Amino acid sequence: MAFTFSGDDVCQATQPTPLPEPYWVAFSPSSAKLIGIELDKNQLPTDTTWLAVLSGNQLSTGTHQFPNPIATAYSGHQFGVWAGQLGDGRAILLGDIAGQELQLKGAGITRFSRMGDGRAVLRSSIREFLCSEAMHALGIPTTRALSIIGSDLPIRRETLETAAVCARLAPSFMRVGHFEHFASLDDVGRLKEFADYLIQNHYPESQNTENPYLSLFKEICSRNANLVAQWQSVGFCHGVLNSDNISVLGLTIDYGPFGFLDQFQIDHICNHSDQGGRYAYHRQPQIMHWNMACLASAMIPLLANDSGKEKAQEQLRGALEQFPVVYAHKWQSLFRKKLGLFTVQEGDIPLIERLLQAMHDSKVDFTSFFRNLGKLQVNSAISKNPLRDEFLDRESIDRWFVDYAERLQLESSSDIARQKEMDRINPKYVLRNHLAQSAIEMAQNKDFSEVIKLLKILSHPYEEQDEYHSYSLAPPPNAQSVEVSCSS
Ligand code: AMP
Ligand code: MG
Repeated sequence: MAFTFSGDDVCQATQPTPLPEPYWVAFSPSSAKLIGIELDKNQLPTDTTWLAVLSGNQLSTGTHQFPNPIATAYSGHQFGVWAGQLGDGRAILLGDIAGQELQLKGAGITRFSRMGDGRAVLRSSIREFLCSEAMHALGIPTTRALSIIGSDLPIRRETLETAAVCARLAPSFMRVGHFEHFASLDDVGRLKEFADYLIQNHYPESQNTENPYLSLFKEICSRNANLVAQWQSVGFCHGVLNSDNISVLGLTIDYGPFGFLDQFQIDHICNHSDQGGRYAYHRQPQIMHWNMACLASAMIPLLANDSGKEKAQEQLRGALEQFPVVYAHKWQSLFRKKLGLFTVQEGDIPLIERLLQAMHDSKVDFTSFFRNLGKLQVNSAISKNPLRDEFLDRESIDRWFVDYAERLQLESSSDIARQKEMDRINPKYVLRNHLAQSAIEMAQNKDFSEVIKLLKILSHPYEEQDEYHSYSLAPPPNAQSVEVSCSS
C-alpha cells in the first residue's frame, strides 16, 4: 500500500498532464510480469489502453483503475548542503498494483515542481529505463522501469529535445528526504506516521524489537551499506548521492548522471556537474554514511520521545558506527568472489587491494578484466597469461599473478568450477555510457531498436551471449568520453 501523507502541503491529489500524440519507445516484459500485464507477440500489452495510461493521458485500462493520482514533496541535502523542500521527483504516483507503486516520471507540473516544467526528456528517460532494468538483472536492489512513452513535444534543456514519460515500479519510492522534510518542519506527528508506515509495511521484523524506530534505522543503514558495496562490485557510480536520492528501502533510485566504469580509476567522477568529485566512485561509501547521518538526525525526535534527546542521539550514533562495518564486510565478500576466492584466508584483502591499485595505475577495463580473470588456468604458465598485457608494469603484475595462483591453490574447486562461479558475479555486460549514448542518438531519430536490443542484452548480464560479444568490449577511443550531467 502506497503511503499517502495527511495534509496537502506535502501530498497533492493531482492529474498527469496529457502527453501529445504518445508512442511506445520501450517496454520491459520483465517488469510487466511483476505486475501481471499480459503481452502480445510484439512484447507490448495486449490491452492497448496501457499506452494512454502510461503516458498520463488516461486513468484506467480495461482492468485497472487509478482514480487518485498524487504527488508527494520531499526535502534534502544536495552536494552536502541543506536545500530545503526540493520537489516531488518529477513523479506522479498513479497507484498500487500487485504490491508495487506505479509512478510516472515526467508527467507534468505539480504543486511541488518549483521552477521546473515537470517533464523529462527522451535522453534521460532511456538512461533511467535501461539502467533500472540492467541493475535488476545484475541482482542489485533497484526501482524498476516498466516503459518509456515518447512524444514529439519539444522540451528545452541545454538544447531543444523531446519529452518522454518513464513509468517506474517499486514497493515504495520513499526517500531519506521524506524523513528530513518532516524533521525540518518539526512535525513529529507525521514523522511518526511515516516511520510507522515503513515499519508496518516494509520492515515488519522491526515491530517486535525493543526499540522499533532504532531497529528501523539500523535496517535502512544496513541495506544502504550493502547497496554501495554492490554498486562498487560492478563498477557503478550513482553520480548524485544527495539525501533526496537515497531510498529508505535500500534501492538504487533516481538514475541521472550515473556511470559504469570503463577504465578502472578509483576516483572516477561520472557526473560532469560534480566538479569537486564529492560523488566519485571511491567516495560513495563515505557519502552514503553521511546520508545515513542525515537520516539519523531526522529520526532523533522519534527516539527521543521514549528516552530523551541525549539517549536518542547516543543510540543513533552507535547504530551509525555499524555502517562501515557492514559495508566493509559486504565489499570484502563480493571482491573475494570476484577473484574466485570462496574461502576466507589471511592476506586476501591486501591481494585484492594490490590488484585494484595495479588496475588503477594502468587504467584497466574493470568489467572485462574481471570477466576474463575467470578464464585463467591456474596450472598453466600463469606468468604468460594474456591479462598481463593490460598492465604497464609487467614485472609487478607478474608477481601479483604468481601470488594469486598460489592463493587459488587453497580453493578446492577446479578451474572450470571456479570460472562458473566467477561468471555469476563478474558480469560480461553492463550499461556502458557509449552504449547508452548510441541507443539515445538512434532513438532521437525515431529508431528505438537499439534500446530494445540493449534491454535484451542487459537482461542477461552474466550470460556469454556470443552474438553480442562486441557489446562487452571497452569503448573505442573515440567513444570514451561521453559526458553526462544532471540535465534531464
Ligand atoms: P534530481 O536532481 O533529478 O534528483 O532533482 C532534484 C529535485 O528537483 C527533484 O525533487 C525533482 O522533482 C526536481 N526537478 C528536477 N527537474 C525538474 C523538472 N524539470 N521539473 C520539475 N521538477 C524538477
Ligand atoms: Mg532525484
